[in-house]
Amino acid sequence: MKTVLITGASRGIGRETARLFGEKGWRVAVNYNKSKAKAESLCEEIRSYGGTAEAFCADVSDEAQTEKMIDEILARFGTIDVLVNNAGIALKQGLFTDFSAEDARMIFDTNVFGMMNCSRNVIPHMVHRKSGKIVNVSSIWGICGASCEVIYSSAKAAVIGFSKALAKELAPSGICVNCVAPGMIDTDMNGHLSNEDVDDLCTEIPLGRIGKAEEVAESIFFLAAESSSYITGQIITVDGGWM
Ligand code: NAP
Repeated sequence: MKTVLITGASRGIGRETARLFGEKGWRVAVNYNKSKAKAESLCEEIRSYGGTAEAFCADVSDEAQTEKMIDEILARFGTIDVLVNNAGIALKQGLFTDFSAEDARMIFDTNVFGMMNCSRNVIPHMVHRKSGKIVNVSSIWGICGASCEVIYSSAKAAVIGFSKALAKELAPSGICVNCVAPGMIDTDMNGHLSNEDVDDLCTEIPLGRIGKAEEVAESIFFLAAESSSYITGQIITVDGGWM
């Protein structure tokens, strides 16, 4: 049985991804930061249909917490075959000049340094086994940039750069690194938008609707599964044709 670690799996895209891996018979390490009850209820749900899942608390932006979490997962499950770096924050929307240096640090700490902290601790284990997959969650804004989300766009562009470079570095070790870049997905991250805002956005999206977290989960699963064994360094956009 293979093991996946999904960061930020208590809510949204991470939660649906954990559900999908659980349904497919994987052992799921569910990382959360603040939403302990949600992470635990998800694990109970996966266990209720015979799956294996455990919740692990860590703020991924904290190097020591991340290292401890990965040691615990390896001690508990023996391997981490796939790492999904999903944890992310947008913080707020506004002009670049309305964001303080501290705001920018917070956005990069979770979206970029969190991904690097998890990867740094999992990679030696994968290299030792000469196999593994890393799937990073970027955003279409990391590809084309968004007004009023300049720092978030920059952080998500860094996720793409990291994925492409790391894919080349780790290919000789049999490890694949890929990225998904979602468009507008129905999660708490967009909870501040009114129904009217969403309707307006939908007029710009060729498929005429925002996406579901389950739809992103399917692409993450594809990049984690054997069926994508010859794909590395790639970005799959899941955006209803928006970009
Ligand atoms: P969400 O519903 O707000 O959920 C965010 C998740 O990340 C939560 O489980 C949260 O855990 C976790 N998290 C945040 N900071 C963390 C930290 N420091 N350490 C560990 N976990 C942390 O967001 P989402 O929409 O599912 O977003 C998931 C990913 O997709 C993010 O990387 C986001 O940038 C990306 N994305 C989302 C959209 C969209 O439209 N929703 C579009 C493009 C890309 P706790 O609640 O336990 O703290």
